[in-house]
Amino acid sequence: MKSIIQKNNECWVCKSTYGLHTHHVFGASNKKASDKYGLTIKLCLMHHTGSEGIHFDREFDFVTKQLAQEKFEEINYESFIKIFGRNYLGVTFTEYIRGR
Ligand SMILES: [Zn+2]
Ligand SMILES: [Zn+2]
Repeated sequence: MKSIIQKNNECWVCKSTYGLHTHHVFGASNKKASDKYGLTIKLCLMHHTGSEGIHFDREFDFVTKQLAQEKFEEINYESFIKIFGRNYLGVTFTEYIRGR
C-alpha cells in the first residue's frame, strides 16, 4: 500500500529526491503490517541507514512511530495495539527508551 504518512516522493528529512529508500516505520515482525497499512516513509541513504539516519536515531524513530500510529487510527477501525503490539502515543520518549 502507498504511504498514508507521506505524499511526496522525497526524503522525509531533507526533501532530496535522489536515491530514496522506503523505510518501514515498524520493522522486524511488523514489517509486513507496515506495508499493508502504508506505514512507510521515504528517506535518502544518509537519513535512512547513514550516521544521521533513522536506524541510528531512536528519538527520530520514536517520533515517526507516534505519527504513524496517529495516522493509522485516523483511518482504521482496527486496533493499532492489537496489530503492532504496543501503544506509542501514551508515552514520552524517555519512558519509551526505558522500555515502559
Ligand atoms: Zn535525506
Ligand atoms: Zn528503514
